[in-house]
Amino acid sequence: MSDSYSRREFLGAASGLTAGVALGPGVLAARSAPAIHIRPAAMNVVVASANGLRGVQRAGELLDQGMDTLDAAIEGVKIQELDPDDMSVGYGGLPNEEGIVQLDSSCMHGPTRRAGAVASLEGIKTPSVVAKYVLLYTDHVLLVGPGAKRFALSYGFQEEDLLTDRAREAWLRWRARRGPDDNWLEVPDDEQLSREEHGTININAVNASGDVSSVTTTSGLSWKIPGRVGDSPIIGAGQYTDNDVGAAGSTGRGEACIKACGAFLTVEFMRRGMGPSDAALETMRRVVSTTEARLLDERGRPRFGLNFYAVNKKGEFGGASMFAGARYAAWDGTEAKHHDAAYLFERER
Ligand code: ASP
Repeated sequence: MSDSYSRREFLGAASGLTAGVALGPGVLAARSAPAIHIRPAAMNVVVASANGLRGVQRAGELLDQGMDTLDAAIEGVKIQELDPDDMSVGYGGLPNEEGIVQLDSSCMHGPTRRAGAVASLEGIKTPSVVAKYVLLYTDHVLLVGPGAKRFALSYGFQEEDLLTDRAREAWLRWRARRGPDDNWLEVPDDEQLSREEHGTININAVNASGDVSSVTTTSGLSWKIPGRVGDSPIIGAGQYTDNDVGAAGSTGRGEACIKACGAFLTVEFMRRGMGPSDAALETMRRVVSTTEARLLDERGRPRFGLNFYAVNKKGEFGGASMFAGARYAAWDGTEAKHHDAAYLFERER
């Protein structure tokens, strides 16, 4: 706000915003941010991280049956949350350094402009649904740790042991191999188990009326310091929706995404008129520019991976990754399939 932007002018702007809400999204967009002129999507479109192929299919079919965009997106991510073989999300997710599974999720509902999230949630298989309950039933946006769990239990969610035998074995192997000077004897590595260190699912959905929603859910970084939270439960980082523009979300190194407000920034780039893939790529450039030197290689490339997925109100969708070779999943109105993501850097040979 410039010095000459007086309190009276500020209140005037704020009341214009309120009028915008009352008069409809088009007016709000014109008054509150650079306007882009877009028509609502002509069909139902869903875009997700690569592990969301079944999720986009499910969400797309539910949108076709008339389900709300957030409800459909959550039904999509629940497939991964409930799948014990997905070791990056929900039940079966890899635990923290103490062997405890801590889950994070956030969501936004475009039409009502509401948001909800949970972080470091233990013992509940479907954090995305708990995040939706925060959105629906509280005046808050984010609940964490034991408070988030008690909130879930009060709504009848069942407390369960989320650590599967496979995830426990992976954790025990990691603990035994952690360092040569600790008191745990070394065990042989199991590449199959040690390969998967992190992952997440993000789903963004737009229906034929142009209503948009997004959800992200994860078990976060494996072997994390207890209480560590990445981008997934942070509104504007792990996912973001603006019903005037579209939605975006991310997977990969959460710390990098948080610093760039990745999902929010991608939506803002779309607001200025960029297509979803270009917007995601532009956010990736911002991430690189905000990366500290210790995380860059000798050629200035990040030593970590990051991905963004985006859809606009017209139903155009796309994705971008830090490195070549990544894919994302999308339901384009008729079928679910993988697409190649745009990228900033070729992979090192
Ligand atoms: N973004 C997640 C986090 O930082 C992890 C991931 O997607 O790999 O918690």
